[in-house]
Amino acid sequence: MGRIYNFSAGPAVLPEEVLKEVAGEMLDYKGTGMSVMEMSHRSKAYEEIIKGAEQDLRDLMNIPDNYKVLFLQGGASQQFAMIPMNLMKNKVADYIVTGQWAKKAYQEAAKYGKANKIASSEDKTFSYIPDCSDLPISEDADYVYICENNTIYGTKFKTLPNTKGKTLVADVSSCFLSEPVDVTKYGIIYGGVQKNIGPAGVVIVIIREDLITEDTLPGTPTMLQYKIHVENESMYNTPPAYGIYVCGKVFQWLKNMGGLSVMKERNEEKAAILYDFLDQSELFKGTVCKEDRSLMNVPFVTGNDELDAKFVKEAKAAGFENLKGHRTVGGMRASIYNAMPKEGVIALVEFMKKFEAENK
Ligand code: PMP
Repeated sequence: MGRIYNFSAGPAVLPEEVLKEVAGEMLDYKGTGMSVMEMSHRSKAYEEIIKGAEQDLRDLMNIPDNYKVLFLQGGASQQFAMIPMNLMKNKVADYIVTGQWAKKAYQEAAKYGKANKIASSEDKTFSYIPDCSDLPISEDADYVYICENNTIYGTKFKTLPNTKGKTLVADVSSCFLSEPVDVTKYGIIYGGVQKNIGPAGVVIVIIREDLITEDTLPGTPTMLQYKIHVENESMYNTPPAYGIYVCGKVFQWLKNMGGLSVMKERNEEKAAILYDFLDQSELFKGTVCKEDRSLMNVPFVTGNDELDAKFVKEAKAAGFENLKGHRTVGGMRASIYNAMPKEGVIALVEFMKKFEAENK
């Protein structure tokens, strides 16, 4: 059986070239006689892999020297706690709640200090990004937190909030490396890699140097201190070694594709194919405010739960996998990350047209 078009929100589709390359290196990585999975993380071969991956990421994102790059574990969810534990010096942080993941981060932070919800789009089922140009930022806020791309709802911050000089912390799990970013605008950029970069089990944290201190909240576990991981270059303990290796391959793939500006163009082109169809369809419709639409996650509905279920079932039979919307919102969602080829989106739209004609 061949590969299908996989629209999963994560773990998600990876570039076929990368999968083939890692398959080719499975039994004998570059003459070492072993797979990267079997290799000591302290070996010379592995050191080259992790250092190379970091350098390629630095090149792709143009990461300045005063930012450290960490490859950690615990998923994006562990960062919900690690961020307040390390950054809440004044025990105050401001959260912009634009979806379930931002809300979870906000609720977690509230365990450690005063977490303020300074804006939210929950009143309209997180279908838009609130105006963040003049928010009531707390005077003593240690940071302002956003989830930049909302995987479940399909919204994205097109402009970053005005933090009035406070440190910006962003969860970019579902838009990581999908377009160029100005790293200097953030204190921390982090994300789980299982959507746009690699296999689940790795979380990448890009953190500005001045935020890395020993002064963490009392009781912060050693494993949850950024400083420990920085000092040990992501090798305080055994890192998610194989996952980091695959991430490194994806970084090289992205470089070969032409980098993040090229990815942005490709992603805009792919998303436009789907959104343009949705905008003129008489059956399907997008569920979020047009200006805030994500390039990565595209939710849509027919307005009829039975018809939605029929669509998902028939799409699956036709080779379009994982189109069911998140369990909390229903409907459909097509996640079209970097590695989803344009042909996959075109084929999906053709299928939707056919379904529409048959179900008018
Ligand atoms: N943030 C965002 C934006 C996500 O989409 C997800 C996962 N789907 C998470 C955080 C949680 O990630 P993890 O499962 O790696 O903890």
